[in-house]
Amino acid sequence: MQQADSIGRLIAQGRQQLRAGDSAALDAEVLLAFVLGVDRAWCYAHSDDPVRANLACDYRSLLGKRAAGFPISYLTGCKEFWSMELKVDRHTLIPRPETECLVETALELIPERAALDVLDLGTGSGAIAVAVAKERPRCRVTAVDIMAETLAVARDNAARHGLSYIRFLQSDWFEALPGDVFDIILCNPPYVASGYRGLAEDEIRHEPRIALDGGYQGLAAIRQLIPASLRHIKPGGYLVLEHGGDQTRSVRELLVVNHFSGCGTRRDYAGRDRVSYARR
Ligand code: GLN
Repeated sequence: MQQADSIGRLIAQGRQQLRAGDSAALDAEVLLAFVLGVDRAWCYAHSDDPVRANLACDYRSLLGKRAAGFPISYLTGCKEFWSMELKVDRHTLIPRPETECLVETALELIPERAALDVLDLGTGSGAIAVAVAKERPRCRVTAVDIMAETLAVARDNAARHGLSYIRFLQSDWFEALPGDVFDIILCNPPYVASGYRGLAEDEIRHEPRIALDGGYQGLAAIRQLIPASLRHIKPGGYLVLEHGGDQTRSVRELLVVNHFSGCGTRRDYAGRDRVSYARR
């Protein structure tokens, strides 16, 4: 009878198979731990343990997909954001660490015990809405997305974190919110320029194009959103937008032209401009 593969051997094989990627060892460990339903530390402590053939087979199938460029988060179905585990699938953008900078900005603008009306426009996995609702439980958070499948994931994430009171609506930007006004609107719009070659790269090409492709100069959605948001922000309320590092000037000009004031811009952890906000 053939001897079962051990955890250590399977990880070594995976690392070998994924060696073209810069996170080969980590990816192999994450995938095996996922298939076994354990964490990576457990794998280290049990590297001589045998792995059942059907599980080894599942693992090899995931390795094949990873080697073909599938993002690791779509294979495991989850991604950590704001120290919470969020479900993701191919209908949602994979939340990026830089979007935590938008959450931080929002939390600075929302006093701790305030009960404000907050909108997350284009919520995707629900990352922003869930993080803000968790940190500011008195706020009334609404989250919209154009895609029903995406919204289902966001709802699931809210429920998993005990935040089912977030109001979810399917909406093409403000379309389903004709008369609604908010104290603060948060948005991570698509802002990658259509022609950007990176959109074709492995890590990105499996993600929903609609969540990334911001048209000409990556500013098409932002150009539409800034004026449209005016009717939905209470006087004195805020608009907070994520954008690319080279878009700061354009975004701030658009905010000023649309009579927003008190513009500010924050850098992400990599030191690049990433979030701009302004008051109506
Ligand atoms: N930060 C993302 C990236 O660079 C872009 C996200 C977006 O367009 N909203 O891949």
